[in-house]
Amino acid sequence: MSGFSDFNLTAGLQNALNDLGFSTPTPIQKEAFSVICSGRDVMGIAQTGTGKTLAYLIPVLKMYQFTRSLNPKILILVPTRELVVQVLGEVEKLTKYMSIKSLGIFGGVNINTQKTAIYEGVDIVVGTPGRVMDLALDGVLRLDEVNKLIIDEFDELLNLGFKPQLTSIFSMMKRKRQNILFSATMTDDVDDMLEDYFDYPEEVSLAPSGTPIELITQLVYDLPNFNTKLNLLKYLLQKEEFERYLIFVNNKRMADLVYDKLAEDFEAEIEIIHSNKTQNYRLNAIRAFQESEVKGLITTDVMARGLDISNISQVINFEFPEQPETYIHRIGRTGRAGMGGTAISFCGPKDQNARLDVEILMNREIEVCEIPEDVQISKVLNAWEKEQKFKKEISRAAKKPKGEAFQEKAAKNKKVNLGGPSKTKKKTHGSVNRNLLKTQAQKKKKKS
Ligand code: AMP
Repeated sequence: MSGFSDFNLTAGLQNALNDLGFSTPTPIQKEAFSVICSGRDVMGIAQTGTGKTLAYLIPVLKMYQFTRSLNPKILILVPTRELVVQVLGEVEKLTKYMSIKSLGIFGGVNINTQKTAIYEGVDIVVGTPGRVMDLALDGVLRLDEVNKLIIDEFDELLNLGFKPQLTSIFSMMKRKRQNILFSATMTDDVDDMLEDYFDYPEEVSLAPSGTPIELITQLVYDLPNFNTKLNLLKYLLQKEEFERYLIFVNNKRMADLVYDKLAEDFEAEIEIIHSNKTQNYRLNAIRAFQESEVKGLITTDVMARGLDISNISQVINFEFPEQPETYIHRIGRTGRAGMGGTAISFCGPKDQNARLDVEILMNREIEVCEIPEDVQISKVLNAWEKEQKFKKEISRAAKKPKGEAFQEKAAKNKKVNLGGPSKTKKKTHGSVNRNLLKTQAQKKKKKS
């Protein structure tokens, strides 16, 4: 009694699921089905990998009634172009035996092609809020017949600043509609929006997805700077022969930098995605990775979010993310389907606080690895690392009585002039007093 047959689906929908080889609903699909079918507003808390896309698509398509109208009846909003493509793909597979026209719309491509497709008639639109709003304001896309609004990755849409576009879209829709919202986390922004724009949606939630944290081997390397991080990364890629890995960085600038350096030796096996890459480039990179043409993908969190990228053997955090929850999302990408996996994190001086936040969140320390002997510890700092070091010195000097500060600086200069390798260097990578930091952070947490 656990198959889709309990859902009493239409023959077309059931056949499409059979074609996909899906026989059993996932927990979120079971939970969401009857609530969505009841017609009430729904707030689903579920992450990618839980089957959340079908959790809203199956009941919505079951309830779908054919009309002759050329205007969309279902609108699905998602944060990125990649997700438009992915969700549209799922819609197309599920509606294979139904008389439904679906269309994906997003910015960065010719708007006229999209206009023509809309004029020809469309039942389901999957889009990013910016382009949907533009086309609706132009009067090309009519939203007044939409009776199901689905917002996927709601938290991410708000993180990316799409609130004005969303509210503008709401204002062009009829009030009587079903709202189905999905979010990986319940943030304050999501909560505020629910209060202001939605009518007490019924919450359907699921424990966080991804591999249970116990199944992931977590390791961390303490490294003094960017160049040493790179040396270690190159060493690991060469020696460890990773099968399928994701390299996470915190922003697109860092993504480019790491890619350029890695491409010197590994161009044939890695790809990169971030928001400054063209639409085509990004889609090609994801396809190449999904089809195992390349083994590694360098990505930012925004880009990776929501993408169905599975069977990852290693997640590498080139930097610790600012939000500790993001770390959990990142490492949960490894070893889907209960296979376990490895998460390797690089911790430089600027990552120390973020790492501590992660350890406090998980209530455990990440196992520290020794840097392999063959990895060269670089002394060369990048411009921003030099600036950081300089700022630290200034602030340290400012805190000390004048004479002492002067003396310390003079001693430092002397040391620099002497040059040569320092014997104690190895022990001082990321040299912070972690116990002290920990007590401080725990105190801070208690206070808040
Ligand atoms: P999602 O969380 O929506 O990104 O889905 C993650 C993956 O699970 C996608 O590749 C889906 O095609 C797949 N999937 C969704 N529902 C099922 C199901 N009932 N059985 C097996 N796989 C599924």
